[in-house]
This record gives sequence, C-alpha cells and structure tokens, in this order.
Amino acid sequence: MEGFVIKDVRFAALVLPNAPLELLGEDFRWTEGPVWFADHEQLLFSDLPNDRIMRWTEAGVSTFRFPSHFSNGNCRDRQGRLVTCSHLQRNISRTEIDGGVTVLADRYEGYRLNSPNDIVVKSDDSIWFTDPHYGINTDYEGGRQEPELPARVYRLDADGSLRVVADDFDGPNGLCFSPDERLLYICETGHQFAPSPRQHIRVFSLSADGKSLNEGRMFHKVEPGYADGISCDEQGNIWSSAADGVHCISPDGELLGKILVPFTVANLAFGGRHRSRLFICAGQRLYAIYTNTRGALLL
Ligand code: MG
Repeated sequence: MEGFVIKDVRFAALVLPNAPLELLGEDFRWTEGPVWFADHEQLLFSDLPNDRIMRWTEAGVSTFRFPSHFSNGNCRDRQGRLVTCSHLQRNISRTEIDGGVTVLADRYEGYRLNSPNDIVVKSDDSIWFTDPHYGINTDYEGGRQEPELPARVYRLDADGSLRVVADDFDGPNGLCFSPDERLLYICETGHQFAPSPRQHIRVFSLSADGKSLNEGRMFHKVEPGYADGISCDEQGNIWSSAADGVHCISPDGELLGKILVPFTVANLAFGGRHRSRLFICAGQRLYAIYTNTRGALLL
C-alpha cells in the first residue's frame, strides 16, 4: 500500500488502500487547529503566522477571519460554537451565533495566560486547554511577550471558573479525550525548536467526578518528530501528528501504522460526511485522506 506504513495488521482495517492523500490547499505559512463543521460542510483551521483562520469547503479555500489574533487550536462546544485559542491576546474565546466574540478566559488568579495552544470540550460543557509558552517566545507566532504563569493544563467550567488540572509539563500541546471520556491524552513537546526528552504523549485517567486528572503515565513517544496535535477515533485509537506524517497508535500505546505526508504534520481532525475523512495540517499545506474509521463523537 503506497503512502502507508503498516506496523500492525489492525492498521490495515483502519485505512483504505486506494484512498489518495489529497492536497486541499497550499501557500499558507503554518497550518494548525483544524475543526470540522458538519452543518456547514466546512473545515476551519488556523494559518497561524499569517494571523488568520481559513475556511475549506468543496468549493475551495477562503479567509474566515482576519486578523485572528494569531489563533492556534480550535474546537466546537456542545452548542456548536467555535472556541479558539489566541496567542496574541493570550486567551480562549467563543464565537457566538450572532458572530460576536466572547473572551472565556485570559487570566488565572490575576496573571495573564501564556499562549493557549490547543483545546477540547467535554460532554459536561467544560473546556480543557493547554497553555505553554511557545506562542509568546517569538514574534512569528504572535509577538514576543513575557510569561506570567508556568506552562499548565486548565479546565474551564461553564460557570467561568478556571482550574489547573496539570502543572508538571514543560510544554503541553495537543490533547484529546478517549471516546468514553475516562482518559485524557496530552502531548508534551518540551522546549520548542530543541530536541527534548520530554517529547511524548502522556495519558491521564479522570477522577470519578470527571473534573480532575489522576496521576498520568507515559503513553507513546512519536518518532520522527513529535506529537503536536492528536485526535481519537471511535475505537479509541490515537491519530497523532509526526514529522513523517500521521501515526496511528492503539489504546495500549502501540504504533499501528502511518499515513505518510511529505511535510511535517502539526495537527489533524476527523470530518466529512461520515467523520471518516482525516484533515491534516502539514506546514504550508492542508491535506485530507479518507479512512476506514470515524472520529470519536462527544458523549
Ligand atoms: Mg499545538
């Protein structure tokens, strides 16, 4: 199967041997934060250093928002609204049905967040996001600014209260829940631009009330490159970005196989009519490939 690396027979059932890797758009600067809107048959994604959010539909690519305040990760909440991480404004925001933008969180105990990176919503409406320093280390990704807080992972409740759920990270990055929401996978990318022993995916079980994390453990180390963005399919496999493409990792942490992509992959999201099409943000390009699985649905 050209374009795939099969490490385990289970992977052969998850992909389609004749499905091509399709180039959907190019000439961006650095794509990130893909999120699928089934009701609009569109994918939104950040073109981070170009300070814009783009929209892909079958009709082509257009600009959804400029400036985006150097947006990075995006997701939808349970009501279908876009929720976005901004490096420049150091916040997470929600785009309302009327188009207005509401800041949901920009401070913790009076100190400014660093540069929220990636974001997911849980079935109880809580919003979980990572807040590393990357986005304010350089002017390229949103403007050099001084951090005021350690790199952490937060949970924002529907009542607006913000809690730290993990603080022993150098650089927390992408994150996703298992389909039953009993596990949270969090990528750690260490110190950006430098190889680090802390470049791996960790997994945490959730407490009985689903509001905090029990002690985590190492889940998988992606090589080459590292895991930046991750998505879960409905069988609980983790699909991760890597330097050579997309890696598929079983729930027990084994590499099952790879979809080879000619540029470093930063993030990915399932979408399309059956949530079986994998959209891939890879450097200056946006790709997609049809798979034989489906992205996990929120409970
Ligand atoms: Mg990221």
